[in-house]
Amino acid sequence: MGSMEASTAPENGGTAAGGGGAACNGTGTASNGGGGVERRLRSSTASQAWAAHLPLEVGTRVMCRWRDQKLHPVKVIERRKGASSSSPADYEYYVHYTEFNRRLDEWVKLEQLDLDTVETDVDEKVEDKATSLKMTRHQKRKIDETHVEQGHEELDAASLREHEEFTKVKNIAKIELGRYEIDTWYFSPFPPEYNDCPKLFFCEICLNFMKRKEQLQRHMRKCDLKHPPGDEIYRSGTLSMFEEKHSEESYNLACILTLPPYQRKGYGKFLIAFSYELSKKEGKVGTPERPLSDLGLLSYRGYWTRVLLEILKKHKSNISIKELSDMTAIKADDILSTLQSLDLIQYRKGQHVICADPKVLDRHLKAAGRGGLEVDVSKLIWTPYKEQG
Ligand SMILES: [Zn+2]
Repeated sequence: MGSMEASTAPENGGTAAGGGGAACNGTGTASNGGGGVERRLRSSTASQAWAAHLPLEVGTRVMCRWRDQKLHPVKVIERRKGASSSSPADYEYYVHYTEFNRRLDEWVKLEQLDLDTVETDVDEKVEDKATSLKMTRHQKRKIDETHVEQGHEELDAASLREHEEFTKVKNIAKIELGRYEIDTWYFSPFPPEYNDCPKLFFCEICLNFMKRKEQLQRHMRKCDLKHPPGDEIYRSGTLSMFEEKHSEESYNLACILTLPPYQRKGYGKFLIAFSYELSKKEGKVGTPERPLSDLGLLSYRGYWTRVLLEILKKHKSNISIKELSDMTAIKADDILSTLQSLDLIQYRKGQHVICADPKVLDRHLKAAGRGGLEVDVSKLIWTPYKEQG
């Protein structure tokens, strides 16, 4: 619902001209921006003082006008020279909104920044040194706190810093997929020759990607893939599932992604539920591959909560974590962490005991929200690997 209207992709007919303009959205208007910036700077004495300090240093903290038209605190992550002039005002800044997830980091123009609010970060130099020297606990925590991605706990501080440095700026700003133009969320490890294109064009059938619209159009005339690779193992209405890869490590799901135009329709929850139906058929417990992203963990926690608490509600007598695991194919560790996070576990006489007050269960179930699209197990036609010839 509403996804068609949400599309910002140019109409087919106007693509040759319109597409070029759209692609330049974030990067190509530095020359128009320059004049506006200078005018704006002259209008404010405080800003005039700051004009002498332009371009702003990486690490600077300042307020920035976001897409909601309100000012939000940002930290300058990177900067680049505008194409049109050598003026110090002609720079663009890659900023992290300190209140928001890193997926909203973006390039902004100087006129979006409120220069009256500029503060340079004096801690920055100390933090930089911290990677080569032994870090104090405070500095370590500071890096941990600013590191938004989850699951890199195993990296030491120096590798973490290197990883962050390499991935700090999104290399691709937008992609075009079918009739949608989609903003990207994070850095992605594309081959280096793709790094300077503002938009990549994807074939929505085979997911090949190209630098130019014309290349995609040429490709689309030849692309004759009729379905994703692998065997179709499930079909219900218009929804089909294809199977390709086998995990040696008993992960039942390696990577879960719902593209933005298709989000909030229950597909992510469907995928999680589906992966556990496969595990049940295999007679094994499953768990997602780590690290989980923030949104991934949220989806899984929701699923685990719904499934486990529904059972606890119906089950009158005592039930062990092992039994729960056998019934649901959810790994015991995941059951324990879910129930612990809901404060439903007590440790008594060396044993974990589940405390299941019906009212408490109902409250948690309500908070976990509804499940996604239903998996109709009767339509799953699949033979686990161990049973295959
Ligand atoms: Zn294709």
